[in-house]
Amino acid sequence: MFGVWVPADQASRAEVSKLTYYGLYALQHRGQESAGIAVSDGSRIVVFKDMGLVAQVFDESVLNTLRGHIAVGHCRYSTTGSPTWENAQPTFRSTDEGGLALVHNGNLINTPELAGRLEPGVLTATTDTEVLTALLALHGEGGPTAAAREILPDTRGAYSLVFMDEGTLYAARDPEGVRPLVLGALEAGGWVVASETAALDIVGARLVREIEPGELVAIDGAGVRSERFAKARPKGCLFEYVYLARPDTTIAGRSVQATRVEVGRRLAREHPVEADMVIPTPESGTPAAIGYAEASGIPYGQGLVKNSYVGRTFIQPSQTIRKLGIRLKLNPLREAIEGKRLVVVDDSIVRGNTQRAIVAMLRDAGAAEVHVRISSPPVSWPCFYGIDFATRAELIAGDLSVEEIRDSIGADSLGYISLDQLISASQIAKDNLCRACFDGVYPIPVEQDARGKHLLEVGR
Ligand code: SF4
Repeated sequence: MFGVWVPADQASRAEVSKLTYYGLYALQHRGQESAGIAVSDGSRIVVFKDMGLVAQVFDESVLNTLRGHIAVGHCRYSTTGSPTWENAQPTFRSTDEGGLALVHNGNLINTPELAGRLEPGVLTATTDTEVLTALLALHGEGGPTAAAREILPDTRGAYSLVFMDEGTLYAARDPEGVRPLVLGALEAGGWVVASETAALDIVGARLVREIEPGELVAIDGAGVRSERFAKARPKGCLFEYVYLARPDTTIAGRSVQATRVEVGRRLAREHPVEADMVIPTPESGTPAAIGYAEASGIPYGQGLVKNSYVGRTFIQPSQTIRKLGIRLKLNPLREAIEGKRLVVVDDSIVRGNTQRAIVAMLRDAGAAEVHVRISSPPVSWPCFYGIDFATRAELIAGDLSVEEIRDSIGADSLGYISLDQLISASQIAKDNLCRACFDGVYPIPVEQDARGKHLLEVGR
């Protein structure tokens, strides 16, 4: 998710649609189903979106038609609502004065209640984002700021938002600040908001600060105006440190890479084993494998080669694609691993399919022993705040013990980092983190009827 505002007289030089494209490119790991950009030239908003990766949706000729001085962009993976064109973002709504385009990272948990405030038949898509956009577009003279002041305090769940009308860029973050959102400044003048600091680096913007939990920001020719619509109750997603965020991003001042390396060191102390080589599951297991090797004294090596152009496996929606994805994605380096006792470090086990395939692949390639080490605790509970772990029944740790999981994936041994060690490595206070997928304690209470991905599609 990305947004940019530059002074109107710099629009042609700044090329906001291209900055947004590069920003989204840097954030591609956060969603791979669809991509879109909305641009305003001060009098009109144009939206272009389609299914596919950022580089598949946009080319030079499309970007050249998206001219203006404000832009918002998004790459989606679905949590509420199917992966369809209608559900792709930015979402757009006409208003009395013009239009409103919005992008959202997270997942709302009171969508039916919010949808009930709209006239029947108003919704054209089936996402929580569409509901929020429709509500924010129903503003009176106070514009989107007044609408946000009214709607956001009643909106529950995870929502980092970037939205725009013809003249102003807005950003807001839920009171828990579950998903990250940062503000950056462009050297030549102008402002950027992005899901991760890495996207600021890529467009040459300087990190100014995080958008605070419960904060609403408006950016236009008068500068950056900030107000609070709710008191902050920080509960940042712990899983961002484990898996979701790029290693070159910082969250709440803490480097994701440094956290992952430190978790690897602690993992080596919690679950030591005699072995000849530590290898990562590339690339999300790499920093923790470096830390494990460093703390254990076992040499670090490469045993699996990744095709970087295949998307992350669990993030894609159907089981069929996921199974194929694993085989397409990794290939063992036979010469490096033959006859060796291996420690394989991965970031998490969700359904267990990836690790089962990896262990079998390494044994086929001649590994003498395969010891799996995981840099997160067992994922035992679903996430309702923007990660599609689906149901508890699909999570291998939902009802299997560690020993049963070891047996299921075929490893010689299996060790997970403890929750306390993971939290301590993040350097964030335990009370300021959401850990629900690990401990089942949901910081924003979730009602049963808010739990279905297709909740707005029933009967359609
Ligand atoms: S449940 Fe897990 S993945 Fe979801 S927000 Fe909480 S820590 Fe993150």
